[in-house]
Amino acid sequence: MTAVDFDVVVVGAGRAGTAAAYKLAAEDFDVALVERAKQPGMKNVTGGVLYGQILADLVPEFPEEAPLERHVVEHNIKLLHGDAEVSIGYRDMDLLEEPNYTLMLGKFDRWFVDRAVDEGAVFVPETTVRDVTQARDHAVVHTDRENGDLACHAVIGADGVNTTVGRATGIQRTMRNPDMALSVKKVIDVGRDTINERFNLDSDEGAAYIYTGFPEGAPTIGYFIYTYDEYISVGAVGGLEVLRWLGDEGYAESGTPLYSLLEEFVELDTVRPYVQGESLQEYQGILLPELSYESLPDRYDRRIALVGDAAGLVLNKGYTFRGLDYGIKSGLLAAESAIACDREGNWEAFGRRYDQWLENSYVLQDMKQHRHLPEFLKNERMYGAYPGIATETLRGMYSAGSDAQGLTWKQAYRAFRNSDAGFLDLLKDGYRGLRSL
Ligand SMILES: Cc1cc2nc3c(=O)[nH]c(=O)nc-3n(C[C@H](O)[C@H](O)[C@H](O)COP(=O)(O)OP(=O)(O)OC[C@H]3O[C@@H](n4cnc5c(N)ncnc54)[C@H](O)[C@@H]3O)c2cc1C
Repeated sequence: MTAVDFDVVVVGAGRAGTAAAYKLAAEDFDVALVERAKQPGMKNVTGGVLYGQILADLVPEFPEEAPLERHVVEHNIKLLHGDAEVSIGYRDMDLLEEPNYTLMLGKFDRWFVDRAVDEGAVFVPETTVRDVTQARDHAVVHTDRENGDLACHAVIGADGVNTTVGRATGIQRTMRNPDMALSVKKVIDVGRDTINERFNLDSDEGAAYIYTGFPEGAPTIGYFIYTYDEYISVGAVGGLEVLRWLGDEGYAESGTPLYSLLEEFVELDTVRPYVQGESLQEYQGILLPELSYESLPDRYDRRIALVGDAAGLVLNKGYTFRGLDYGIKSGLLAAESAIACDREGNWEAFGRRYDQWLENSYVLQDMKQHRHLPEFLKNERMYGAYPGIATETLRGMYSAGSDAQGLTWKQAYRAFRNSDAGFLDLLKDGYRGLRSL
């Protein structure tokens, strides 16, 4: 049997890879965590809210120990239409019982990798993986370091959306434009007290706002505002197809890049009060997978398993993003598969077993249940006609000028007749919405 350097090599020290390394190290496995950046979190981007139950199962003390930003107690979906905005807000102090936090990856990932190292994982920074090969009884991770080949029983590819492990091994092809979204995001310093005032929050309470409807009718472009401790994170996410659509269909004469849309968004009258007075701390852009359950790529081959974004495990639910916890869960499942293979002395089953467990996990069950959602979110009426109907109806309800204009349902009906949506559209979209959400 070939001597190996490590039982398992994990490629990529995002949360997916670090969770795998942590779990394996805690079980006394020899595990290397290889990361191209100098420090964890330097090359990663998120919005974002961590739905932290999975992490709490792994590291119960994380809410006290980890550098978290705010404990999320409010979610808000905002439909924009012209100068108007219709919000569906949900604030609940019982959410303080849930381990859901906003976080900044730079700080959080450093903490998480330190914890994995404390458990015994070997962290290998500033090392880029170029290729992964498999021999009869082992796998080899080829890095850009001199003599930097690492032989191991199994490889966990946690190297994000542009996965080298996935492509070098032929498990995945490069993702197509319809399967990808672009995100630009900026982090601005407004100070703790100002955040609490603007968002009506107390101490370390946090809020997450999601916006759609700008520019009117442009499908799949959404925006977010998340509160950090002292900063606000504001960003835009748009499907790559849609960005092309903007050019082809002439939304803007020259086609508007996403970063320009973000600049226009933060200047909207309804948005500016939250983000004004900015002092820019960070500006980031990144691709993210936007796949439906059916279009998810393959995730394994013999001794190799892809986890997190590398496996396309991100879901835009329309009202929230999920990816951080999906990554952690998939990393843990890959680690558990390695533990089971070691016990049985059969590493050849590593990838297949991981994939089966992932298929039965809440991650893929969730993506399966929401499999119609990505298509549903491409519907232009969600971003134009329906926000328009909602604002016109509410304007009627709250404007004295429209007194004696009929019962509310009649005003809603009129708003509907004035919109581009037809009855059949409404029926179809209602059905699709129920099927997707
Ligand atoms: C704007 C935005 C908002 C989001 N909001 C949310 C949210 O609110 N909630 C949520 O749950 N999810 C959210 N997501 C999704 C979530 O951020 C991702 O799903 C998650 O960060 C993926 O983690 P990961 O560990 O799989 O990959 P990554 O965090 O991308 O980590 C991959 C790591 O691999 C390293 N790497 C890459 N290639 C190599 C190589 N060849 N060799 C060595 N190292 C390599 C990288 O440097 C990186 O450290 C959001 C995403 C974006 C972009």
